Amino acid sequence: MSMNIAIDGPAGAGKSTIAKKVAKELSFIYVDTGAMYRAMALYLLEKGISGDEKISEACHDADISIRYENGEQQVILNGKNVTAFLRKEEVGNMASVSSANPEVRTHLLKLQRNLAAENNVVMDGRDIGTNVLPNADLKIYLTASSKVRAERRYKELVEKGVEADFDKIEEDIIIRDRQDMEREIAPLKQAEDAVLVDSSDMTIEEVVDAIVAEFEKVK
Ligand code: C5P
Repeated sequence: MSMNIAIDGPAGAGKSTIAKKVAKELSFIYVDTGAMYRAMALYLLEKGISGDEKISEACHDADISIRYENGEQQVILNGKNVTAFLRKEEVGNMASVSSANPEVRTHLLKLQRNLAAENNVVMDGRDIGTNVLPNADLKIYLTASSKVRAERRYKELVEKGVEADFDKIEEDIIIRDRQDMEREIAPLKQAEDAVLVDSSDMTIEEVVDAIVAEFEKVK
Protein backbone atom coordinates (compact mmCIF):
# COMPACT_ATOMS: atom_id res chain seq x y z
CA MET A 1 0.00 0.00 0.00
CA SER A 2 1.21 3.50 -0.73
CA MET A 3 2.16 5.88 2.07
CA ASN A 4 0.47 9.28 2.13
CA ILE A 5 1.33 12.51 3.90
CA ALA A 6 -1.26 15.32 3.77
CA ILE A 7 -0.23 18.93 4.31
CA ASP A 8 -2.96 21.55 4.54
CA GLY A 9 -2.91 25.19 5.46
CA PRO A 10 -3.68 28.73 4.33
CA ALA A 11 -2.18 30.62 1.38
CA GLY A 12 1.51 31.39 1.72
CA ALA A 13 2.15 29.12 4.73
CA GLY A 14 5.07 27.56 2.84
CA LYS A 15 3.29 24.31 2.07
CA SER A 16 4.79 23.74 -1.36
CA THR A 17 8.37 24.56 -0.32
CA ILE A 18 8.10 22.30 2.71
CA ALA A 19 6.18 19.52 1.00
CA LYS A 20 8.74 19.38 -1.82
CA LYS A 21 11.62 19.03 0.63
CA VAL A 22 9.84 16.42 2.76
CA ALA A 23 9.05 14.45 -0.41
CA LYS A 24 12.68 14.59 -1.50
CA GLU A 25 13.93 13.45 1.87
CA LEU A 26 11.56 10.45 1.91
CA SER A 27 11.78 9.73 -1.86
CA PHE A 28 8.03 10.32 -2.21
CA ILE A 29 6.44 12.30 -5.03
CA TYR A 30 5.15 15.77 -4.31
CA VAL A 31 1.62 16.54 -5.46
CA ASP A 32 0.63 20.20 -5.52
CA THR A 33 -3.18 20.21 -5.65
CA GLY A 34 -3.31 24.03 -5.62
CA ALA A 35 -1.68 23.92 -9.07
CA MET A 36 -4.61 21.83 -10.32
CA TYR A 37 -7.11 24.40 -9.02
CA ARG A 38 -4.95 27.11 -10.57
CA ALA A 39 -4.97 25.31 -13.95
CA MET A 40 -8.75 25.22 -13.76
CA ALA A 41 -8.79 28.94 -12.90
CA LEU A 42 -6.49 29.67 -15.85
CA TYR A 43 -8.86 27.81 -18.14
CA LEU A 44 -11.84 29.82 -16.85
CA LEU A 45 -9.95 33.13 -17.07
CA GLU A 46 -8.81 32.41 -20.63
CA LYS A 47 -12.34 31.56 -21.68
CA GLY A 48 -13.78 34.54 -19.79
CA ILE A 49 -16.09 32.28 -17.78
CA SER A 50 -17.51 33.40 -14.43
CA GLY A 51 -20.60 32.70 -12.34
CA ASP A 52 -21.26 29.42 -10.59
CA GLU A 53 -23.58 27.91 -13.16
CA LYS A 54 -21.29 28.59 -16.11
CA ILE A 55 -18.27 27.31 -14.16
CA SER A 56 -20.12 24.07 -13.34
CA GLU A 57 -20.75 23.48 -17.02
CA ALA A 58 -17.38 24.57 -18.36
CA CYS A 59 -15.13 22.77 -15.88
CA HIS A 60 -15.79 19.41 -17.54
CA ASP A 61 -14.06 20.66 -20.67
CA ALA A 62 -10.83 21.27 -18.77
CA ASP A 63 -8.78 18.09 -18.99
CA ILE A 64 -6.15 18.45 -16.27
CA SER A 65 -3.38 15.95 -15.62
CA ILE A 66 0.09 16.02 -14.16
CA ARG A 67 3.45 14.55 -15.07
CA TYR A 68 6.95 14.86 -13.67
CA GLU A 69 10.00 16.30 -15.38
CA ASN A 70 13.26 16.04 -13.43
CA GLY A 71 11.17 15.47 -10.32
CA GLU A 72 9.16 18.68 -10.85
CA GLN A 73 5.38 18.53 -11.19
CA GLN A 74 4.11 19.77 -14.55
CA VAL A 75 0.43 20.56 -15.04
CA ILE A 76 -1.11 19.76 -18.40
CA LEU A 77 -4.30 21.56 -19.38
CA ASN A 78 -5.99 20.22 -22.53
CA GLY A 79 -2.67 18.96 -23.85
CA LYS A 80 -0.65 22.10 -23.06
CA ASN A 81 1.93 22.43 -20.28
CA VAL A 82 0.64 25.47 -18.33
CA THR A 83 2.92 25.17 -15.29
CA ALA A 84 4.70 28.46 -16.00
CA PHE A 85 1.43 30.43 -15.98
CA LEU A 86 -0.01 29.25 -12.69
CA ARG A 87 1.71 31.31 -9.99
CA LYS A 88 0.29 34.74 -10.90
CA GLU A 89 -1.76 36.43 -8.15
CA GLU A 90 -4.68 36.83 -10.57
CA VAL A 91 -4.76 33.07 -11.16
CA GLY A 92 -4.51 32.29 -7.42
CA ASN A 93 -7.35 34.68 -6.62
CA MET A 94 -9.56 33.14 -9.32
CA ALA A 95 -8.64 29.65 -8.08
CA SER A 96 -9.90 30.59 -4.63
CA VAL A 97 -13.26 31.57 -6.17
CA SER A 98 -13.67 28.68 -8.61
CA SER A 99 -12.48 26.05 -6.11
CA ALA A 100 -15.66 26.68 -4.08
CA ASN A 101 -17.63 25.18 -6.97
CA PRO A 102 -18.67 21.57 -6.21
CA GLU A 103 -18.30 20.38 -9.83
CA VAL A 104 -14.77 21.76 -9.97
CA ARG A 105 -13.89 19.92 -6.76
CA THR A 106 -15.36 16.60 -7.88
CA HIS A 107 -13.58 16.92 -11.22
CA LEU A 108 -10.17 17.23 -9.50
CA LEU A 109 -10.75 14.88 -6.55
CA LYS A 110 -10.48 11.72 -8.66
CA LEU A 111 -7.13 12.73 -10.10
CA GLN A 112 -5.80 13.48 -6.61
CA ARG A 113 -7.01 10.21 -5.07
CA ASN A 114 -5.63 8.14 -7.97
CA LEU A 115 -2.20 9.70 -7.58
CA ALA A 116 -2.18 8.94 -3.84
CA ALA A 117 -3.37 5.36 -4.37
CA GLU A 118 -0.63 4.60 -6.88
CA ASN A 119 2.32 6.45 -5.33
CA ASN A 120 3.89 7.37 -2.02
CA VAL A 121 2.94 11.04 -1.92
CA VAL A 122 3.29 14.22 0.02
CA MET A 123 0.18 16.06 -1.11
CA ASP A 124 -0.53 19.66 -0.19
CA GLY A 125 -3.70 21.73 -0.44
CA ARG A 126 -6.61 22.88 1.70
CA ASP A 127 -8.73 19.74 2.16
CA ILE A 128 -6.26 16.88 1.80
CA GLY A 129 -6.41 15.62 5.39
CA THR A 130 -10.09 16.38 5.84
CA ASN A 131 -11.47 15.23 2.50
CA VAL A 132 -9.13 13.93 -0.21
CA LEU A 133 -7.08 11.51 1.92
CA PRO A 134 -8.94 11.04 5.21
CA ASN A 135 -6.80 7.94 5.91
CA ALA A 136 -3.43 9.59 5.25
CA ASP A 137 -0.60 8.13 7.37
CA LEU A 138 0.30 11.61 8.58
CA LYS A 139 -1.63 14.88 8.47
CA ILE A 140 0.00 18.25 9.01
CA TYR A 141 -1.76 21.60 9.37
CA LEU A 142 0.88 24.15 8.44
CA THR A 143 0.20 27.78 9.20
CA ALA A 144 1.85 31.14 9.96
CA SER A 145 0.56 34.65 10.74
CA SER A 146 -0.92 36.55 7.77
CA LYS A 147 1.89 39.12 8.04
CA VAL A 148 4.63 36.51 7.82
CA ARG A 149 2.82 34.80 4.95
CA ALA A 150 2.45 38.09 3.05
CA GLU A 151 6.16 38.83 3.58
CA ARG A 152 7.10 35.45 2.15
CA ARG A 153 4.90 35.82 -0.91
CA TYR A 154 6.16 39.39 -1.47
CA LYS A 155 9.76 38.18 -1.37
CA GLU A 156 9.01 35.28 -3.71
CA LEU A 157 7.49 37.65 -6.29
CA VAL A 158 10.24 40.27 -6.00
CA GLU A 159 12.89 37.57 -6.43
CA LYS A 160 11.15 36.50 -9.64
CA GLY A 161 11.23 40.10 -10.84
CA VAL A 162 7.45 40.48 -10.55
CA GLU A 163 6.15 43.83 -9.38
CA ALA A 164 4.46 43.46 -5.99
CA ASP A 165 2.55 45.60 -3.48
CA PHE A 166 2.92 44.28 0.08
CA ASP A 167 -0.35 45.68 1.47
CA LYS A 168 -2.32 44.33 -1.47
CA ILE A 169 -0.73 40.91 -1.01
CA GLU A 170 -1.64 40.80 2.69
CA GLU A 171 -5.17 41.96 1.90
CA ASP A 172 -5.51 39.24 -0.79
CA ILE A 173 -4.21 36.61 1.64
CA ILE A 174 -6.79 37.60 4.26
CA ILE A 175 -9.59 37.53 1.68
CA ARG A 176 -8.38 34.17 0.33
CA ASP A 177 -8.21 32.69 3.87
CA ARG A 178 -11.77 33.77 4.50
CA GLN A 179 -13.04 32.36 1.18
CA ASP A 180 -11.21 29.06 1.70
CA MET A 181 -12.31 28.68 5.35
CA GLU A 182 -15.91 29.76 4.97
CA ARG A 183 -16.93 27.94 1.80
CA GLU A 184 -19.52 25.23 2.16
CA ILE A 185 -17.69 22.39 0.45
CA ALA A 186 -14.38 21.09 1.77
CA PRO A 187 -13.45 24.28 3.64
CA LEU A 188 -9.92 24.78 4.90
CA LYS A 189 -9.72 23.55 8.48
CA GLN A 190 -7.39 21.52 10.61
CA ALA A 191 -8.32 17.82 10.58
CA GLU A 192 -8.93 16.48 14.08
CA ASP A 193 -5.99 14.12 13.80
CA ALA A 194 -3.61 16.61 12.15
CA VAL A 195 -0.43 17.86 13.79
CA LEU A 196 -0.40 21.67 13.98
CA VAL A 197 2.84 23.32 12.84
CA ASP A 198 3.06 27.13 13.12
CA SER A 199 6.03 28.13 11.01
CA SER A 200 5.96 31.88 11.84
CA ASP A 201 9.20 31.62 13.84
CA MET A 202 10.68 28.50 12.27
CA THR A 203 13.18 28.07 9.45
CA ILE A 204 12.34 25.89 6.47
CA GLU A 205 14.78 23.23 7.70
CA GLU A 206 13.19 23.21 11.17
CA VAL A 207 9.73 22.66 9.68
CA VAL A 208 10.98 19.89 7.36
CA ASP A 209 12.76 18.15 10.26
CA ALA A 210 9.64 18.41 12.44
CA ILE A 211 7.46 16.80 9.77
CA VAL A 212 9.95 14.03 8.98
CA ALA A 213 10.19 13.33 12.73
CA GLU A 214 6.38 13.06 12.92
CA PHE A 215 6.43 10.66 9.99
CA GLU A 216 9.08 8.48 11.66
CA LYS A 217 6.63 8.04 14.56
CA VAL A 218 3.78 6.73 12.40
CA LYS A 219 5.39 4.82 9.53
O1 C5P B 1 -2.18 26.61 -2.66
P1 C5P B 1 -2.53 27.54 -3.77
O2 C5P B 1 -2.38 28.99 -3.44
O3 C5P B 1 -1.83 27.19 -5.05
O4 C5P B 1 -4.09 27.28 -4.05
C1 C5P B 1 -4.87 28.12 -4.87
C2 C5P B 1 -6.33 28.02 -4.43
O5 C5P B 1 -6.82 26.72 -4.79
C3 C5P B 1 -6.58 28.14 -2.94
O6 C5P B 1 -6.78 29.47 -2.53
C4 C5P B 1 -7.82 27.29 -2.71
O7 C5P B 1 -8.99 28.05 -2.89
C5 C5P B 1 -7.76 26.28 -3.82
N1 C5P B 1 -7.40 24.97 -3.33
C6 C5P B 1 -8.41 24.19 -2.78
N2 C5P B 1 -8.15 22.92 -2.36
C7 C5P B 1 -6.92 22.41 -2.47
C8 C5P B 1 -5.86 23.20 -3.00
C9 C5P B 1 -6.13 24.49 -3.40
O8 C5P B 1 -9.55 24.63 -2.66
N3 C5P B 1 -6.70 21.14 -2.10
